[in-house]
Amino acid sequence: MNLILLGPPGAGKGTQSQRLEKKYGTIQLSTGDMLRAAVRSGSELGQRADAIMKAGQLVPDEVMIEMISERIDQPDCAKGFILDGFPRTVPQAEALDAMLADKGLKLDHVIEMKVDGPALVTRVTGRFTCAKCGTGYHDSFNPPKVAGVCDNCGSTEFTRRADDNAETFGKRLAAYERDTAPILPYYREHGVLKQVDGMAEIDEVTRQLEAIIG
Ligand code: ADP
Ligand code: AMP
Repeated sequence: MNLILLGPPGAGKGTQSQRLEKKYGTIQLSTGDMLRAAVRSGSELGQRADAIMKAGQLVPDEVMIEMISERIDQPDCAKGFILDGFPRTVPQAEALDAMLADKGLKLDHVIEMKVDGPALVTRVTGRFTCAKCGTGYHDSFNPPKVAGVCDNCGSTEFTRRADDNAETFGKRLAAYERDTAPILPYYREHGVLKQVDGMAEIDEVTRQLEAIIG
């Protein structure tokens, strides 16, 4: 099963991808996570991406298309993948269609997580992640069961993203509305677009996704 979760920053794509990965064995491919790993490694790409991400802008299409194409070829994607954060522009969506056709693969579902703009800034500024296993949390909406201890791996170290502040979030939301929202009609015209209520509680969103996936 190959699917795309679409929605603005804070819609819940990462949270739900992690749950679907556990349930279905389909791997989460987060282009944001890949870029943050490149930034940590200090590679040339990482240095370039760092400034772009801190400014809330998008990394050029050709870089992202090559990155995801190479990633999909890895053996751990054989059981399927969940794209989280890609495609983010119409040219990326078109390139994805072409590359999947080349690789003999297809998209099973493209799912829009519908959310209200004003809720998102609270979600993003309260977000944190386990530094060891990457499990995502929120200060109020999704805290660890034992404060300060990761539910998944027991680690006590957490990180917050440099771009999860109100100012950069505003730029990222504007980039979503300008560059990414036009993907929705693209997939609607192709007859593959479905929707879930991203404003519902986390468990309810999971139930809605599972109902679509079957
Ligand atoms: P995205 O990957 O779309 O940017 P995340 O999955 O990281 O979004 O979610 C952003 C923040 O909001 C996280 O801290 C997460 O715990 C929280 N969150 C995710 N889904 C919901 C929800 N349905 N209701 C409330 N908070 C949520
Ligand atoms: P995310 O983790 O999805 O919120 O992405 C964080 C940042 O990484 C974005 O604000 C962009 O700067 C960059 N990024 C991630 N995915 C893409 C993509 N598909 N195309 C362009 N830039 C991306």
